[in-house]
Amino acid sequence: MTGYTESEERRALRREVAKLAGKYGREWFTEKARNGEKATELWLEIGRNGYLGINIPEEYGGGGGGIGDIAAVCEELAAQGCPLLLMVVSPAICGTIISRYGTAEQKSRWLPGIADGTGTMAFAITEPDAGTNTHNIATTARRHGDMWVLDGRKIYISGMDEADHVLVVARTEDAGTGKAKPVLFVVPTSAGGLEYRPIPMEIVSPELQFQVFLDGVRLPADALIGDEDPSTGSGERGGMAQLFAGLNPERIMAASFSTGLARFALDRAATYAKERTVFNGPIGAHQAIAHPLAQSKIEVELARLMTQKAAALYDAGDDEGAGEAANMAKYAAAEAACDAVDRAVQAHGGNGITQEYGMAGLLVATRAGRIAPVSREMILNYVAMHSLGLPRSY
Ligand SMILES: Cc1cc2nc3c(=O)[nH]c(=O)nc-3n(C[C@H](O)[C@H](O)[C@H](O)COP(=O)(O)OP(=O)(O)OC[C@H]3O[C@@H](n4cnc5c(N)ncnc54)[C@H](O)[C@@H]3O)c2cc1C
Repeated sequence: MTGYTESEERRALRREVAKLAGKYGREWFTEKARNGEKATELWLEIGRNGYLGINIPEEYGGGGGGIGDIAAVCEELAAQGCPLLLMVVSPAICGTIISRYGTAEQKSRWLPGIADGTGTMAFAITEPDAGTNTHNIATTARRHGDMWVLDGRKIYISGMDEADHVLVVARTEDAGTGKAKPVLFVVPTSAGGLEYRPIPMEIVSPELQFQVFLDGVRLPADALIGDEDPSTGSGERGGMAQLFAGLNPERIMAASFSTGLARFALDRAATYAKERTVFNGPIGAHQAIAHPLAQSKIEVELARLMTQKAAALYDAGDDEGAGEAANMAKYAAAEAACDAVDRAVQAHGGNGITQEYGMAGLLVATRAGRIAPVSREMILNYVAMHSLGLPRSY
């Protein structure tokens, strides 16, 4: 980022991705979803073109870029009506954690597939009983000789059916202190003892969410990412550092996903409002239609600016600054997107609810951005505490 605009290179990347995704488009995407098919063609094409792994180190098949680059790719896909949630998970969360904490051998095993899309990795932290309170996760990792054995249950895990592996957040019981520490394991989705079932969701997307059951899943020692030993690794926090490494990228990507969808909805609404005439002149001439859309345009641009700031801070190595900005960006983007889509539906009148115009399906997709990957309430908790110095509320 130079000053208040992105570099020419980043803008060129956006144009190229928009062009590629434009060949597919919203209608292709929703048809795939409604037919129970996958968006694999698009996924593999962005992989082949180097966009999927743009943030992965070059020596492992990636583009050597940053979160700002992969976030730009994510946003441009969504802005063409083809949002790919697994971009948030596979290259941005899993790719970042493995790049930062994996051994050389682990990186060569998993990163090239994440980068070109042939080895997608899902991410599983959420549990039915712990929910937002991830400190309460109950999926347990126990040592059994030189193996690990995993037991537990996860929920809302995106893309299990498309992933070869899933990065599972579990906990070990520390024999010394009795404290549980988070630990991260790469688990093949075909592993014995692992099962997953789709959760019927109202989102119109080829990408699905799953319940995951881990029942005595046996893993070799080198399935563990990073270190669980407090004396040599990340101290008492166990795998907490690894986990945190994935959080800012996740929020920046989620923000980009939201702003992309919002841009798509606003483009469609503006086009419609210029053409549709019911009294004198197009409906877009009425301020009741034009102003809400203009308001959303402003809100979306502000959210984009904060997202780019968060990415620039993260890529410059300022994790703390990026944390605040990424939370704010994710909040602002989800709010802006929900409002933009609602206003876009309204501008379409009855057509806003038809499958043909494809606007109403975006209501749920953008609404999910207020809940996942971190809810708006938890961001408000974070900002109240970290930015305003207010007491912790939970
Ligand atoms: C489309 C989609 C995809 C997802 N993909 C994945 C994935 O790939 N991997 C994965 O691990 N998870 C995934 N999730 C799960 C997601 O991260 C969780 O849904 C989210 O973290 C919220 O947890 P919960 O649903 O259990 O809600 P709960 O924790 O039950 O929260 C319910 C409500 O209470 C509020 N609340 C809870 N505690 C507080 C508090 N202290 N203060 C104020 N409000 C509070 C929450 O903000 C929320 O509004 C996905 C979810 C969705 C919807």
